[in-house]
Amino acid sequence: MRIGFDLGGTKMLAAVLDDDRSVVARNKNRTEGGDNDHIFAQIVATVDGALGKAGASRGDLESVGIAVPGPIDAATGTILYTPNLGIRNFPLAERLGHELGCHIYLENDVNAGLWGEYVAGCARGRRHVVGIFPGTGIGGGLILDGHLYRGKGGAAGEIGHITVQSDGRRCGCGNHGCLETVASKTAIARDLAILAMNGQSPVLAEAGATDIRLVKSGLIKKALDAGDPGVAEVVDQAARFLGIGMAAMVNTFDPEMIVLGGGLVEKLGSRFTDIAEATMRERAMQRLVTGVEVVEAQLGDDAVVVGAADLAEAH
Ligand SMILES: [Zn+2]
Repeated sequence: MRIGFDLGGTKMLAAVLDDDRSVVARNKNRTEGGDNDHIFAQIVATVDGALGKAGASRGDLESVGIAVPGPIDAATGTILYTPNLGIRNFPLAERLGHELGCHIYLENDVNAGLWGEYVAGCARGRRHVVGIFPGTGIGGGLILDGHLYRGKGGAAGEIGHITVQSDGRRCGCGNHGCLETVASKTAIARDLAILAMNGQSPVLAEAGATDIRLVKSGLIKKALDAGDPGVAEVVDQAARFLGIGMAAMVNTFDPEMIVLGGGLVEKLGSRFTDIAEATMRERAMQRLVTGVEVVEAQLGDDAVVVGAADLAEAH
């Protein structure tokens, strides 16, 4: 029996999988803050809860794959740090392996999600896949020749930090004009908050969208559906920038497929991805972009747990 575990900043999810990679039981808990020990106790309780729901016990467990929202040292199974959880230098694989008596494997959450789509979702049967997930930032992952590509230090695929505006806005990474400064949900929310403040969008103003934290994907969709031209301009511009980033990926990696996912893509759907795809086709080299499929991720939240469990089995 295998478990895939999604250690998120606001929630943690343990899913028990059968041999066909189907989820047979899941247990979700809110992630409480706290030190390494407190979070460790929550992880153990969430795993035990999932086993209970599956009618199983720790002795049935072969492996647990854990998706982590931040950089890890995969070789030692250590979480280096997590921006949202406050974990630092935590040897999770060692401690959890000792506690549960089974094999533990850690993977970055974006990589785990893309791998899930590769083994069980929209990218099944392909060998060269780029994943781009616009959210608070823009996560990216690369599957090259059937392998998850990690690079020399495990950090490959930072697609959100390729430069698309040479003199653009300052990015959190220190560079200027990164893709995520213009095409992430945060970038859209920032521009929409300004619209709301200027009284240019009644729907947004009514929802209190002058506070950028209140501009969620669902509200962006609602404002678009209300037919507000200013909102459409902001969203379409972000989609075009995403397409510029996708063209760069096509020219660099010659993929068969680009998977777009995350909450923003889920909510806006083809309204967003069609513009991104059209821009990609205009901008990428014709020889490379012909035949490239652009698809929306299929598995939702399950992609991460399925991918993490599968990677744990293979490593
Ligand atoms: Zn950056």
